[in-house]
Amino acid sequence: MKKEEIQKLFKNKSFSKILLDEPMKNHTTFKIGGPADLMVIPSSEEELIKAIKLSRENNIDFLIMGNGSNLLIKDGGIRGVVIKINEGFNGIKVDNTTIYCQAGALLSTISKTALKHSLKNLEFASGIPGTIGGAITMNAGAYGGEMKDVVTTVRVLDKNNEIKEYTNAEMNFRYRNSRVWDEGLIVLSVELGLEKGNYSTIEEIMKDLTYKRTSKQPLELPSGGSTFKRPEGFFAGKLIEDAGLRGLRHRGAQVSEKHCGFVVNAENATCKDVLYLISVIQKVVKDKFNVELETEIKLLGED
Ligand SMILES: Cc1cc2nc3c(=O)[nH]c(=O)nc-3n(C[C@H](O)[C@H](O)[C@H](O)COP(=O)(O)OP(=O)(O)OC[C@H]3O[C@@H](n4cnc5c(N)ncnc54)[C@H](O)[C@@H]3O)c2cc1C
Repeated sequence: MKKEEIQKLFKNKSFSKILLDEPMKNHTTFKIGGPADLMVIPSSEEELIKAIKLSRENNIDFLIMGNGSNLLIKDGGIRGVVIKINEGFNGIKVDNTTIYCQAGALLSTISKTALKHSLKNLEFASGIPGTIGGAITMNAGAYGGEMKDVVTTVRVLDKNNEIKEYTNAEMNFRYRNSRVWDEGLIVLSVELGLEKGNYSTIEEIMKDLTYKRTSKQPLELPSGGSTFKRPEGFFAGKLIEDAGLRGLRHRGAQVSEKHCGFVVNAENATCKDVLYLISVIQKVVKDKFNVELETEIKLLGED
């Protein structure tokens, strides 16, 4: 279907928020990405499912995104529909030691809620800048914790537009991966099972982890987080540093001076700039240490 037809189709179905020819760089933490033909920002589960069904029924390609903190979008942008599950579908409810979250709720907000209720075990997630939907998808983790440790059940929409509920064990969580990717599922909501803890201890752990992040990671520059997955037996950042690539720059893209595991958007970088730099890093690290670096950030879109 042509762009204009897609735009007309969605405009006629009265969604609460749609954006036409929307620059993806406004929606990614990398601040990179060309225009999406159409972006829908659903404000309820019904609207979210309506957008997915409409796309599927009309054979329109669609991309689900959360907060765009793990995405590198190509400079030509996204053909078809981007469904952004974030603001508008981000409710959080607490019942004793259980937290119920809609997929668009931010991990930072959920962690703050956990702290407010003196619930522990989610401290690791407080500084991850994504939604719970995105975090479930890739079993996000940090400082020894991962989503797998705190999830009780996940409600999803499957490829047949059926709503299913999976237990933690059924989610097939593994390092930066889960059943969501295996089966192209869409996360609708998540139930977290936490434990009662001590407010001050939880707060202290969160502060300590925030300090670790701000002192070690280049949070002052746009990026997609760790550019590469951790290769078995190594740390990507250390390999890149030992290869002498700290600060290496290609046009607007740069290996962070602060943490070599991050490629940052130092100055109006394009996706092409980042991809070129990534290819150089991969080649040098392979030549020097015989280690293949696999990207953790998701590359999507058209050149
Ligand atoms: C500064 C910085 C620090 C970071 N630190 C960490 C860290 O410590 N640990 C870590 O694991 N990650 C980290 N990340 C990466 C990122 O924040 C996580 O991967 C996060 O879980 C991505 O969530 P998101 O909502 O931004 O997803 P997006 O980037 O929007 O999407 C990522 C993927 O998830 C899919 N997706 C999103 N929502 C849904 C949904 N509801 N249903 C189905 N699929 C969905 C998308 O299609 C896409 O494939 C960091 C990123 C940055 C920029």
